[in-house]
Amino acid sequence: MKMVNSGSKQYDVVIIGGGPAGLTAGLYTSRARLTTLLIESALYGGQMTTTEMVENYPGFPEGITGGDLSRLMEEQAKRFGMEAVNEEVIEAKLAGERKSIQTSGATYLCDAVIICTGTEYRKLGVPGELEFRGKGVSYCATCDGAFFKDNEIMVVGGGDSALTEALFLTKFVKGLTIIHRRDALRATKIYQERALTNPKIKFLWNSVVQAIKGDQIVRSVVVKNVKTGEIKELTAEGVFMFVGLEPRTHFLKGLLQMDDRGYIVTNEDCETSVKGVFAAGDCTKKLLRQIATAVGDGATAAFAAEKYIDEKE
Ligand SMILES: Cc1cc2nc3c(=O)[nH]c(=O)nc-3n(C[C@H](O)[C@H](O)[C@H](O)COP(=O)(O)OP(=O)(O)OC[C@H]3O[C@@H](n4cnc5c(N)ncnc54)[C@H](O)[C@@H]3O)c2cc1C
Repeated sequence: MKMVNSGSKQYDVVIIGGGPAGLTAGLYTSRARLTTLLIESALYGGQMTTTEMVENYPGFPEGITGGDLSRLMEEQAKRFGMEAVNEEVIEAKLAGERKSIQTSGATYLCDAVIICTGTEYRKLGVPGELEFRGKGVSYCATCDGAFFKDNEIMVVGGGDSALTEALFLTKFVKGLTIIHRRDALRATKIYQERALTNPKIKFLWNSVVQAIKGDQIVRSVVVKNVKTGEIKELTAEGVFMFVGLEPRTHFLKGLLQMDDRGYIVTNEDCETSVKGVFAAGDCTKKLLRQIATAVGDGATAAFAAEKYIDEKE
């Protein structure tokens, strides 16, 4: 790391986001002896930190907890000299040879940027959702499940996240109802089998949440049947929302090519539409968003960044 005249720190590579994509990119660039800074606004490990058990990441035949996998990846990247700071990137200047990355506390300059900001849960956008967030409305079973011991709760969604999170929540709750807007699940078959045979899980098909009600905490959920139009108010002490994800790329809007949903468009070498800017993992436009694919992208993006810096010098 060098200091430049402005007092900003200068690195070869700045990585934004410390999930599996960012940690892998950091491992590769620091091992290639490039000065590397990784900027993470929350926990190192990203979405892995909220995953109870990872069963499909190779090398762990019995599975591994998301927390353990996060710690191992962080330790391995730091072993080769990667620096890391706990700050949120709020602005970036990506054009030209020298890139500038701004957090609330500092500005970092670099030759190459690797964007690994992942995704976040989409909000349902119904009355009561924001008001009762943290008071019964949650987006993370691993984080909040234990607060709902012996409660009756609702889980909204029908994909992999909804089902894996619902299955995890059955460890704590008395019972839960999965509210799904269709009459069939779109989750992976193995999760469907586990959920459909779990005695603590009920299903409310063809239904959408219209409002969340309560006083200090959530007390009920208003649900509409999309086939019959019938509206019911059901008692619930908690609502977990898993209705899809959206990329965390808002602060980069207009700076590089994205698809209409905000996913960053890259080529097979993880290069974006801007020279010296690479993107990896779930924030990119791709078919499969998993730890294994994020790790693969992270390695490719790091190697492409190394090649870009070599050729520039
Ligand atoms: C509930 C759940 C269960 C899952 N289970 C599995 C599983 O069993 N197996 C599997 O392979 N995959 C699973 N996944 C998917 C997997 O976790 C993701 O595909 C993977 O974590 C993506 O890695 P990433 O590095 O691209 O992004 P993320 O893991 O999302 O990490 C992105 C990081 O960037 C940080 N960040 C974002 N914006 C900024 C900013 N402006 N400044 C600084 N930092 C920022 C975030 O805080 C975050 O830590 C699961 C996901 C969820 C939600």
